[in-house]
Amino acid sequence: MSDVKPFMLGKLTWEEAKTLFEETEIAIIPVGSHEQHGPALPLDNDSFQAQEFAIRVAETLWPKIKTAVAPLISYGVSPHHMPFTGTITLSGETFIDLIVDVGKSLAHHGMKKIIVMNSHGGNTAALSLALRRLHDEEGLWCVGIEWWKIAGDLVQKTFEPPHFHADEMETSVAWALGQRVLEDKRIDEPGREPVPGFTKATMYPPQPNIMPIWDTTDFTDSGTIGYATRASPEKGKIVVDEAVRRMVAFIEKVATLNE
Ligand SMILES: [Zn+2]
Repeated sequence: MSDVKPFMLGKLTWEEAKTLFEETEIAIIPVGSHEQHGPALPLDNDSFQAQEFAIRVAETLWPKIKTAVAPLISYGVSPHHMPFTGTITLSGETFIDLIVDVGKSLAHHGMKKIIVMNSHGGNTAALSLALRRLHDEEGLWCVGIEWWKIAGDLVQKTFEPPHFHADEMETSVAWALGQRVLEDKRIDEPGREPVPGFTKATMYPPQPNIMPIWDTTDFTDSGTIGYATRASPEKGKIVVDEAVRRMVAFIEKVATLNE
């Protein structure tokens, strides 16, 4: 087991998994997407981020608090990015069923607390429906954690708006996590407003903010919405470190629930 991370379920034998599952009731499921991220970031960006956050958090917690990190779910709900080559999307229904089936399997082996580390905003609505089902149908304690929310204050302090897609924020965080960044390909594209004055491309919207169902091409031709040239790994590290710290603190607390 020397170079194997003892919480990575996919690297364990079933006997090792049995031992781990006797020692924990907390499962972490990293969830991302496979979608365009502008000219400077690869298609796996969100999945890479989810996996890296999950590893960092589980590693920090170990061995005081043991968790089982399930295999990365590398597809997400990305129909709005389909105009860009290489994007692969699940339907919302498939995504929900996938999360529910993975959660049920983990519950079958004794997991009681399911923590989904989601790195793709397009998954959020379907994810909450899936977790509702796992809660109601399986009696599981469930939560979805998203880095841009858990460290939302720092995101807004560290990066200029818009905070949206393949921008300063996302490129910096990906960079800090070790993602492949094509530095010379980074561009600035503030993003159009499909309904001027009402539809801001940002995760932290000023009011009024009314967002119709949109395609990424409503905002951008390049896939970037924001100022990717301002990105740096140093800025990303500020958010990554604090997001990991808060995720760890949260799971430490979760571990004490119903003990
Ligand atoms: Zn992304």
